[in-house]
Amino acid sequence: MMQSEPKTSEPNHALLLEGGPVAAQIKQEVALEIKVHWPGEELAPALAAVRIGNDPASEVYVRNKIRACHEVGIRSEHHSLATETSESSLLELVTSLNQRDDIDGILVQLPLPNDIDEARVIEAIDPAKDVDGFHPMNVGKLSQCRAALIPCTPAGIMELLKRNGIDPRGLNACIVGRSQIVGRPMAQLLLQADATVTICHSRTSNLRDVTRQADLLVVAIGRSGFIRGEHIKPGATVIDVGMNKITDPEAAQTLFGADLRQRLDAIARRGYTLVGDVNQRDAMSVAGRITPVPGGVGLLTVAMLMRNTLIAAKMRRGLSQLST
Ligand code: NDP
Repeated sequence: MMQSEPKTSEPNHALLLEGGPVAAQIKQEVALEIKVHWPGEELAPALAAVRIGNDPASEVYVRNKIRACHEVGIRSEHHSLATETSESSLLELVTSLNQRDDIDGILVQLPLPNDIDEARVIEAIDPAKDVDGFHPMNVGKLSQCRAALIPCTPAGIMELLKRNGIDPRGLNACIVGRSQIVGRPMAQLLLQADATVTICHSRTSNLRDVTRQADLLVVAIGRSGFIRGEHIKPGATVIDVGMNKITDPEAAQTLFGADLRQRLDAIARRGYTLVGDVNQRDAMSVAGRITPVPGGVGLLTVAMLMRNTLIAAKMRRGLSQLST
């Protein structure tokens, strides 16, 4: 459990479940283990990140992942490919990374250009090097409770809960969003942790009535501030996975409370501010605990990628009981 108590966000009630301290702790643990198992840097675990095109968000995500590798002592290489790269060239690169003994983890940054079949690319990654945990073999193992490489965002949320003393056992957990990378694996992990799990999506009837039953509400839909106070059970723990850009100062007025001035300054300065899928202004006065955006789940995703790379390296080098 984290030593420090989560901060309250005056003047509202909800406690902030910040991702920073937990992410730092996980990265520290990874760094320590790498030092113990690989005292010489040359042999340290290695991550290959593959990115296609020049989507600014993907660029930032990959840059943050590479920076985290440096922090924990993971070797990294960044394959930045042109937008017009063909599927066959990408598959060739993945195959060559699969074959290289000096590479432990492979991540292909999503989304890929429309003319590339994402599923085919993910399936081409060696499941033992699939540090995102998206390969069908790892997805299947997760549903059988025997996965070693678990998708980073939901795995990070489980760490956040655990290290803040929140036990899902017996809780009514509701997940809004059923994507392969967040919603579905999140449901599996909460089920494994003995929560009673409901999954909602765009076809759910009376969403508000369902979400209001939840002691633990995880939201991953990609819609700025969509979940309002009326969707939240008073005192619930709310995990806001959403990561959306707001460019309109008027929209910001409806989404932010105590930090509105800061947010408006950010829009004026760099053209946008980041907002989750939960209306934080509303949620602050209803929820018991809530993750901020930014500064919440996103930091954990990167930390768990470091941990997955360590796990992959340990499995490949016979240092772990786990296997893919
Ligand atoms: P997807 O677009 O893959 O999935 C969105 C899901 O939300 C779908 O299941 C969709 O339902 C559901 N949905 C959309 N609109 C509604 C609605 N009005 N009511 C109920 N459900 C709805 O998104 P991702 O899971 O990839 O990402 C979700 C958000 O999380 C994004 O903002 C993304 O940027 C962020 N994200 C953040 C990460 C982090 O590290 N912080 C990591 C990954 C994602 P249906 O299936 O019916 O279409």
